Amino acid sequence: MSNNSTTSILVIYTGGTIGMIRDEQSGALVPFNFENVYEQIPSLKRFLYRLDFHCFEPLMDSSNINPEVWENLASIIQQNYEDYDGFVILHGSDTMAYSASALSFMLENLNKPVIFTGSQLPLGELRTDGRENFITAIEIAAANDDETPLVPEVCIYFENQLMRGNRSVKYNAENFNAFKSGNFPLLADAGVYLKYKRENILKPNFKKLKVHKKLCTDVGILKLFPGISPAFVDSILQSPGLKALVLETFGSGNASTQKWFLDALVHAIKKGLIIVNVSQCMTGMVDQGKYETSAGLKQIGVISGRDITSEAALTKLMVLLGRGMDTATVTEWMQRSIRGEMTND
Ligand code: ASP
Repeated sequence: MSNNSTTSILVIYTGGTIGMIRDEQSGALVPFNFENVYEQIPSLKRFLYRLDFHCFEPLMDSSNINPEVWENLASIIQQNYEDYDGFVILHGSDTMAYSASALSFMLENLNKPVIFTGSQLPLGELRTDGRENFITAIEIAAANDDETPLVPEVCIYFENQLMRGNRSVKYNAENFNAFKSGNFPLLADAGVYLKYKRENILKPNFKKLKVHKKLCTDVGILKLFPGISPAFVDSILQSPGLKALVLETFGSGNASTQKWFLDALVHAIKKGLIIVNVSQCMTGMVDQGKYETSAGLKQIGVISGRDITSEAALTKLMVLLGRGMDTATVTEWMQRSIRGEMTND
């Protein structure tokens, strides 16, 4: 492994807790000017590689992130792709799993690291987790083996763990350990040593980067719950323009067998709606047909999302539909992994 002075990393700062400091006068948390980043984290100066910064204007709490921001992020990466060895995206943790998933599907033939990180406590706080997250994310983005990047994929680095972005979910609002990859092992863990699990990391294909920037937002998520009413289900299924729906089911992909419910789904599918079955559980796999309560879904043409996360299923649909694929093609692509987001049959 080598890290040398010719390595260059572009840090893209979108906003979120990580970039905040306490205003001395008001005591409130305010975003700090990244021109002063070396004052905040003097140890950054010890990196031998070139670090450049691109700051969003205005900075965003990640709850305000949307597909336009993803398009912007993809464009920044595309425009700078040849000039940098890796990219670090500082981002609020709340929607980081959506953004990392979206970017993974937008960037085809990605052969360089794109590492999302953030923090639970602002950089300006004494006990911040941001300093370690930021520094290690840079180190991971720069890591290479004979000039081939070690982690040529979109990842989330948080609290000593490197995860595939489209396998991650935010599951804890307080702990530093805020993300989980319930269905895929870590890509690296950081202790005294940064240990890469090479067998889990996607291999570079050395093809030219292709960026799919157009996203379709005619998608949605319906989380089932006991007692869900026909009127509520209909209001979702009949949303004007809806093209695809992630159906969050129970356990291994189970749902009510009531006639009104299955009839409503049949009606929607016949009208062209794509429905993907994703489990509400963070770990384990949808297995349509295992129980009677999922056999009906399979029969009527609901697609099994297997072990994909809702975040990945939703953003994959946005990208595939945005690419103009027809229903049959989207249905086919949703059943197999294109960026390591699900376990194939
Ligand atoms: N609300 C913040 C955000 O997601 C929390 C964080 O930065 O982690 O932007």
